[in-house]
Amino acid sequence: MHAHVAFNRRISAAYRHLGIVAPGFPPAFGPGQFVMVRPPFSIDPFLPRAFSIYRIAPPADRTAPTVEILYKVLGKGTQCLSRMEDGQEVEILGPLGNSFTLQDRVDIAVLVAGGIGVPPIAALAAALGRDRGSGTRDQGSVKGVARERGARPPSPPWHTCLPLVSCDF
Ligand SMILES: Cc1cc2nc3c(=O)[nH]c(=O)nc-3n(C[C@H](O)[C@H](O)[C@H](O)COP(=O)(O)OP(=O)(O)OC[C@H]3O[C@@H](n4cnc5c(N)ncnc54)[C@H](O)[C@@H]3O)c2cc1C
Repeated sequence: MHAHVAFNRRISAAYRHLGIVAPGFPPAFGPGQFVMVRPPFSIDPFLPRAFSIYRIAPPADRTAPTVEILYKVLGKGTQCLSRMEDGQEVEILGPLGNSFTLQDRVDIAVLVAGGIGVPPIAALAAALGRDRGSGTRDQGSVKGVARERGARPPSPPWHTCLPLVSCDF
């Protein structure tokens, strides 16, 4: 699927936040699912790289959703991605893979992630908050340590979700 870069922001020395406007991409995904991404017509690197879906923003102008990933700049593929600019064409395939299985009755979910493990866990925290009325407050924060602030645990069967997202951003 041909898409284009909406933004490619630096989060820290090693990590970046990439938004890809992807026409035809499903608006929903399961936390833990991933996409394959590469610059178009790329020969080196030839193979796309896998990235967990961090979130999918609904289309502002109702044309296409924006698929967001968080990535660490390591080798050839991610160095190449880090140089991509707004509006540039990019190839994206997905959503792929399985997602987390959630038990029906979970009163408290403590989510811990670090580094490139953060995106699927942040997506899970968001899904728990959305689907189960969680008291999650800070799932949008990926910098430093994010924790629930001042939210009173709702009474069962609602769920409390404490995303402790600690990483080397
Ligand atoms: C299902 C899945 C989901 C993933 N989700 C994410 C995600 O959300 N975010 C994310 O950032 N990554 C994610 N990854 C990993 C991501 O695909 C790899 O970081 C990426 O493939 C690295 O590609 P590259 O081209 O930069 O490195 P390559 O050139 O392919 O490097 C190959 C190997 O060498 C290592 N390497 C290369 N250069 C260096 C270096 N300078 N220092 C140390 N090690 C080095 C890499 O770690 C890698 O193991 C995911 C992988 C999978 C399979």
